[in-house]
Amino acid sequence: MAKPIVAIVGRPNVGKSTIFNRIVGERVAIVEDKPGITRDRIFANAEWLDKQFSVIDTGGIEISEDEITQSIKAQAELAIEEADVIIFMVDVKSGITPSDSEVANLLFRSKKPVVLAVNKVDNLERENEIYEFYSLGFGDPFPISGSHGLGIGDLLDKVVDSFPDQDEKEYEEDVIKVSLIGRPNVGKSSMVNAILGEKRVIVSNQAGTTRDAIDTPFEKDGQKYVFIDTAGMRKRGKVYETTEKYSVMRAMRAIERSDVVLIVINAEEGIIEQDKHIAGYADEAGKAAILLVNKWDAVEKSDKTLQEFTTKIREQFQFMSYAPILFVSAKTQQRLHKLMPMVDFVADQHALRIPTHALNDVISDAVAMNQPPIDKGKRLRINYATQVSIKPPKFVLFVNDPALMHFSYKRYIENRIRASFNFEGTPIQIFLRRKS
Ligand code: GDP
Ligand code: GDP
Repeated sequence: MAKPIVAIVGRPNVGKSTIFNRIVGERVAIVEDKPGITRDRIFANAEWLDKQFSVIDTGGIEISEDEITQSIKAQAELAIEEADVIIFMVDVKSGITPSDSEVANLLFRSKKPVVLAVNKVDNLERENEIYEFYSLGFGDPFPISGSHGLGIGDLLDKVVDSFPDQDEKEYEEDVIKVSLIGRPNVGKSSMVNAILGEKRVIVSNQAGTTRDAIDTPFEKDGQKYVFIDTAGMRKRGKVYETTEKYSVMRAMRAIERSDVVLIVINAEEGIIEQDKHIAGYADEAGKAAILLVNKWDAVEKSDKTLQEFTTKIREQFQFMSYAPILFVSAKTQQRLHKLMPMVDFVADQHALRIPTHALNDVISDAVAMNQPPIDKGKRLRINYATQVSIKPPKFVLFVNDPALMHFSYKRYIENRIRASFNFEGTPIQIFLRRKS
């Protein structure tokens, strides 16, 4: 099930990033730092009432337009295309401005659920001033104060309540959902065409069409697959589509809907920051991943080139050391026949379930070999471990005191689990629960 996307839209200075930080703040703090990932601050995972969603602060997407109003309108348009729910934010202090009205018009026509948030309602007197905002036509305005943290809960109740009904299941359990993610021109559509063996998938899109997630199902050697959001690979030509943050946002939904993410890198150009952002998101979303280096035909090679490139990738994608690397060419089809078997393999690893006794044997051995460190005279004790879910594999360790766990020791445990059960191609997640 794909996570809903919530976009915050509004003029500069109404308080979007303040609210964004309020909504995601705590979560960002608990996500551990992983080497090599630079965090994308306009974009984060959040949770309210047990519902997971992603939030984007569209104000953080710089769109080079002369006029500010044009820029806000482009951000609103983007939100309309990509988000499931839009928080339209205005400022009680300035009242309704002409650009608020313009944005309201755009949002109104879109028929997307819009929740109107009136920010900077810092005290009760100001609550009386929110009535003018009814005229924007989005029903009850929600008075909030970003700086005082007021009203955010009620706002989020409404947001979560407006999520679309999730289809129970998009595809049957035995279908492997694959997305190809990467910058424009790395060869994603060529790859899809090469695998399907005909040039029929990617057609250029008419301007002005809204989000249309077209998936491409196919079958190979008795296994069913679907390429997720092949429409997303089309070039469409809106201003904001060339911005990095937009592509990350676009990629993110495809990633959410996938089992296996193929991170496509252009061998000719090497690795750039954006490749890492996208890979970081796949890792965080708990998806199986393959690093696919395309255009290998175009690289001048010596007998060391492959090794050198591999080393570089491992350095740059340290947080994803589990992902296999495949050097291919969509053009000459070199090694492309290895791709789908590799997809099958990592999809299996992603869904691997370890018997509890085997897991506990590995953990006891790991602890015996390397005792947990002592912190303030207390030593972490791991009493029991169990795998709670798959896709990705999630483990819970029951311990005497979760605060005693060190990041490096958790990494060690993860490495021991991997050494024993492999899990190649998939992230694994380890959680702690207190239980003596
Ligand atoms: P953005 O441009 O929409 O992302 O707005 P920011 O979040 O950067 O906020 C703009 C300014 O408004 C900053 O100086 C904030 O401190 C201030 N601000 C944000 N929320 C509130 C609020 O609830 N009350 C008041 N009085 N100021 C706020
Ligand atoms: P996308 O934007 O990621 O979908 O990339 P495309 O599939 O549209 O490819 C972009 C360009 O790279 C096109 O001109 C392709 O012909 C070229 N291209 C794609 N794959 C390869 C490859 O393996 N080798 C070479 N030399 N060129 C490729």
